[in-house]
Amino acid sequence: MSLYNYSTKTFTINGRTYSPPNAPTAVICIDGCADEYLSTSMAHGCMPNCLRLSAEGYRGMVRGALPSFTNVNNCAVVTGLPPSETGIGGNFIIDHETGEEVMTNSSKYLRKPTILAEASKSGRKVAMVTAKDKLRELLTKDMHGIAFSSEKAAEATLEVNGIENVEKLIGAAPPIYSGEASLYVLRAGVDLIRRGISDFCYLTLTDFMQHKYAPSAPESLEFYSGIDRYIGLLMDLGVVIGITADHGMNAKCLADGSPNVIFLESELRKEFGDGIQVICPITDPYVVHHGALGSAVTVYLQDILLRDSIADWLIRHDGITEVYNREIAAIKLQLPSDRIGDLFVLSGRDVVLGRSPEYHDLTMLEDTLRSHGGRYEEMVPMLLSRKLNCNYSAKASADPRNFDIFDFVCNGGN
Ligand SMILES: [Zn+2]
Repeated sequence: MSLYNYSTKTFTINGRTYSPPNAPTAVICIDGCADEYLSTSMAHGCMPNCLRLSAEGYRGMVRGALPSFTNVNNCAVVTGLPPSETGIGGNFIIDHETGEEVMTNSSKYLRKPTILAEASKSGRKVAMVTAKDKLRELLTKDMHGIAFSSEKAAEATLEVNGIENVEKLIGAAPPIYSGEASLYVLRAGVDLIRRGISDFCYLTLTDFMQHKYAPSAPESLEFYSGIDRYIGLLMDLGVVIGITADHGMNAKCLADGSPNVIFLESELRKEFGDGIQVICPITDPYVVHHGALGSAVTVYLQDILLRDSIADWLIRHDGITEVYNREIAAIKLQLPSDRIGDLFVLSGRDVVLGRSPEYHDLTMLEDTLRSHGGRYEEMVPMLLSRKLNCNYSAKASADPRNFDIFDFVCNGGN
């Protein structure tokens, strides 16, 4: 019998009603987890707990939000809404009001309240643990509970983070450019639940390892076997678990290993003149990961009359797979129309889009380029520790989204 009482009070937020389970609950976002990472690790026997969880519960694929970037999808997951509603359509945007290029690492850009905040109001002991500190404040808008990052665990205070002495509790925090930065988040989740400090967790990792290593690399297998150990510990604690990813990850290089990049602003200016600005929405403070190169960009034009001819030129460009004008991007990609440019462009599975050779410091990149942002990193895994009920089984075989994960975890179990 459980030592703790869990609030099962339902709560409604952003048009959905959630019935939290009478058990500790954890949603895990494995950053950059293309399904190949799980299948390869399972095939190598590195994820026995995950395999058991899939057999006892559910494992399938869900569609993430485009562009397939971290902030975009984490905001979607914690609100249960697409980017058109959250207002976060990139890690990096032009602020419509000021005209400045800004990172969306502040909750002032998030237009909707979060499931986490509402769960905390309903009586759950909520904890949000992230590897990258950039997500901490963004994802915990109005939330009463615990929120800290492995990146800045040592600096956590009761006042800001709802917890102090994190390193004493969980252990010394690892460097951000490491696989350990992710494992620390999971260790924290296990610890907070085991001690009864939290019973409703969102644990979001970093994709440092996935940017660096392909699924079959020994380093990946070791990393995923580390993840699996913590999943096993959560299962032992009777935690209701949901696992998904913000986006997948693909190699984006030529046969010689060099980045397969189209410097779009340079090419467009050469063809159509200077009044063209390309924004790379992957841009964030962690450039070692990707050199600010991803498979989606947005283009701002001084002369809107050029838009159709530029769109036509772009879609014919080798390596570019989809081009939308602002209005269609808002509808088909579910993007906030006031926070994207006049055109939105996606590239192929092995192609990234950049601004100009001068803008991207490729010397910061370690090894070959692996990145995300486009259509080919859109589909991600979803795993649930409980079998699905009838309604949610039907939902799972339709067009489930990664930002339905809290819905599946709270409402989808038998
Ligand atoms: Zn990510």
